[in-house]
Amino acid sequence: MSRSPFESFVWHSEIFECNSTDISRFYALLEQEKTRLGLSAKKLGSAGGHPLWLMQSPGQKAGLPNLLISAGFHGEEAAGPWGLLCLLSQLDASLFERVNLSLLPLVNPTGFAKGHRFNELGENPNRGFFVENGKARAGDDTSYEGKILLEHAHLLQVASRDGILTCHEDVLLTDTYVYTFEPSQAPGRFSHTLRDALGQYFPIASDGNIDDCPVRDGVIFNHFDTSFESFLVRSGARVGCCSETPGQQNLDQRILANAAAMGAFLDMLAAAE
Ligand SMILES: [Zn+2]
Repeated sequence: MSRSPFESFVWHSEIFECNSTDISRFYALLEQEKTRLGLSAKKLGSAGGHPLWLMQSPGQKAGLPNLLISAGFHGEEAAGPWGLLCLLSQLDASLFERVNLSLLPLVNPTGFAKGHRFNELGENPNRGFFVENGKARAGDDTSYEGKILLEHAHLLQVASRDGILTCHEDVLLTDTYVYTFEPSQAPGRFSHTLRDALGQYFPIASDGNIDDCPVRDGVIFNHFDTSFESFLVRSGARVGCCSETPGQQNLDQRILANAAAMGAFLDMLAAAE
């Protein structure tokens, strides 16, 4: 099976009372949460007139874990960005005593607004992140948005030092799974906790192959390619996860599942209270 880059997917969310492609509502609600939580916002660049924000918890402190959550690389994978809004609405600024949190809320705004996978230039924003001799580098297939992220590689590498969670969806499936990275031979607590957070909402994918990668117990483990998450793990992030919620399921359930995975990621890796 292959994903069509320009097939358009639009779902309705009861939680947010709008369609999944409503980008102006998305940015308006994001601005509200940013203000409520006192997040800083740095515009890394813009795409199709929309800002690519990096938001960070205020007063990043030495000695706290640096965690990065990203969403919206693929435009039809709408529950990631909406799930992030859902998570933010549940957070309290006291969390920032325990974690230096960084967020890339929506990496591919032109795809999101159309509900299609690739950006408006027909590029895949989650490919083309290379590391060579320890240095970040773009390649022939690096997207417009990818180049913007790579221009800020050092900032993103520091922000993800203790963990990266990137939220994707698989529009072909009714089951859920995760790609995870841990410095071990086999998946450990990090992988299983994130898988199980999603497994509260959807069946976990059966063993087999997904996109030519072996999935076992709902986990594709230490699979390195030129994705953003692989890039950050290669660059030194201690652990990484790419979560995959099933696009064939109800949008609001997918939004809640994404928020749950993000919450589990923070609970697991934030400093103890
Ligand atoms: Zn994706």
